[in-house]
Amino acid sequence: MTDELHPAGDPTVEGPTFEGHTFEGLGLRPELLQALSALGYEEPTPIQQQAIPPLAGGRDLLGQAATGTGKTAAFSLPVLQRMPAHRTDRTPVALVLVPTRELAVQVSEALHRYGKDLGARVLPVYGGAPIVRQLRSLESGVDVVVATPGRALDLLNRGALRLDEIATVVLDEADEMLDMGFAEDLEAILDATPEERQTVLFSATMPRRLDALARRHLSDPVRITIARERAAPGTAPRIRQTAYVVPRGAKPAALGRILDVEAPAAAIVFCRTREEVDSLTETLNGRGYRAEALHGGMSQEQRDRVMGRLRGGTAELLVATDVAARGLDVEQLTHVVNYDVPSAPESYVHRIGRVGRAGREGVAITLAEPREHRMLKTIERVAGAPITVEKVPTVADLRARRLDLTRAALRESLLTDDLDRFRVVVETLTDEFDLVEVALAAVKLAHEATGPVDDDEEIPQVSFRPERDGGRAGGGRDGGRRDERPGRPAGRPGGGPAARLFVGVGRDAGIRPGDLVGAITGETGLTGRDVGSIEIHQRFALVEVPEAAADEVVQALRATMIKGRKAQVRRDRGR
Ligand code: AMP
Repeated sequence: MTDELHPAGDPTVEGPTFEGHTFEGLGLRPELLQALSALGYEEPTPIQQQAIPPLAGGRDLLGQAATGTGKTAAFSLPVLQRMPAHRTDRTPVALVLVPTRELAVQVSEALHRYGKDLGARVLPVYGGAPIVRQLRSLESGVDVVVATPGRALDLLNRGALRLDEIATVVLDEADEMLDMGFAEDLEAILDATPEERQTVLFSATMPRRLDALARRHLSDPVRITIARERAAPGTAPRIRQTAYVVPRGAKPAALGRILDVEAPAAAIVFCRTREEVDSLTETLNGRGYRAEALHGGMSQEQRDRVMGRLRGGTAELLVATDVAARGLDVEQLTHVVNYDVPSAPESYVHRIGRVGRAGREGVAITLAEPREHRMLKTIERVAGAPITVEKVPTVADLRARRLDLTRAALRESLLTDDLDRFRVVVETLTDEFDLVEVALAAVKLAHEATGPVDDDEEIPQVSFRPERDGGRAGGGRDGGRRDERPGRPAGRPGGGPAARLFVGVGRDAGIRPGDLVGAITGETGLTGRDVGSIEIHQRFALVEVPEAAADEVVQALRATMIKGRKAQVRRDRGR
């Protein structure tokens, strides 16, 4: 194996388009740099490079970027940069609005991690959770509130959420919030914040309705779209590109399974952070692979030693961050694995360009989480070649594959080895046993000697979340739209059987469709697109949800409050 390794930051080394940019270079304060370094972030993603300077300078921003690009840090870091450290005032200075409970928790965790050294007090508030606790937390003082629109408005109307000190409002996944019927709520919330505030809007898509909202509430915004240009023709055709949809927790096991089936001669596994590199290397070694870590936190000497082991064949897998692997050229590399969907399409193209050289076929494998469909689609477009979504091999697939390998090894031995010295063993055994039985026992021993014992752990088969915007992201070829739930676009039957639910609150209680969608998406795993038609009557409402999720929705809505009320919820028997 030949290789060449340059130290990170060597200006002669070719890198992705964002070579040379660092978090320091973006002018972030020391407390944030410290937090990012502790998290193992080595360099800003493209959206972070483009968004952080103008946001830190107080500009409004309109950003088109999907999940997985690093957009959360792109807006969170400037919010924290602009905030006085260790504030004691009670009223918040920043408000982040997000469509779902899940995202509220995720974003507030990110803000908390980045803002730890600044003493940032971050509070997620969303429908479904006991409001009393949220009221108490608001009362005791917070710096950043991360909220779903319905709950934010509720708290605002109760006088518990004060917005008069708000310096920044972020609308995250704004298209999704509009899809969920939150338009009016967003308007009301924005109107309650100071006019001179900074407004930041991120969205995966820019429908016209969103443009109108942006025109009304953003002032002279910087516009950022994550580049989607095509790579040069001919960059990818000799690479077989495959993606597997895997829940986060099952990734180590899934990777092990995929590697067993693919049996790469030499592979590089890319991770986002140093911590991920270290923990994955440990896991893989624990599973019997010979894996080596390579990241920016290592000295040149340590890196050289790692490369020596790869070259000498004592290591078969290299687990690395982008920065550490920059300039690395391993000729025999057969597989590139993206343990996470890369944060920019360009970095995907750059990574997989390491295989498929000199006429050999290379393999690029990407592990994607169910929510990362859109990013993968973008990457597919930029890479200019299809990425086939495949099922993680099952225990049965793995066993079949291992038997195949054993059969091939035996066949080769029959064709090429001199086996005569074993004849006496076979002949003595056939006095006692049938010849086939003797062969079976020999195959068993040969098989067991080829690899680790079978792991019987079945990995959950999941697929991408249903599309949010029929057509746009999912227009092309697609092996991956086996929906987890029979979801379908709102109000349009077609994706699978739907169930109609009766909810015992209606116009009398001031219920609007957004309240029901908010309660359902906040309390269950469904998204706004899974909820079908909604009828609001005087004293009750009827709402359609996927049949497969109906019981879960009934249970969840019974357990929660809708617009501050307990409601009777059951399957509608009216038809
Ligand atoms: P997001 O697009 O905000 O959902 O972020 C996707 C993932 O990338 C999250 O798990 C972040 O923790 C991670 N991430 C964000 N920025 C960086 C960075 N500069 N380096 C490494 N990981 C990052």
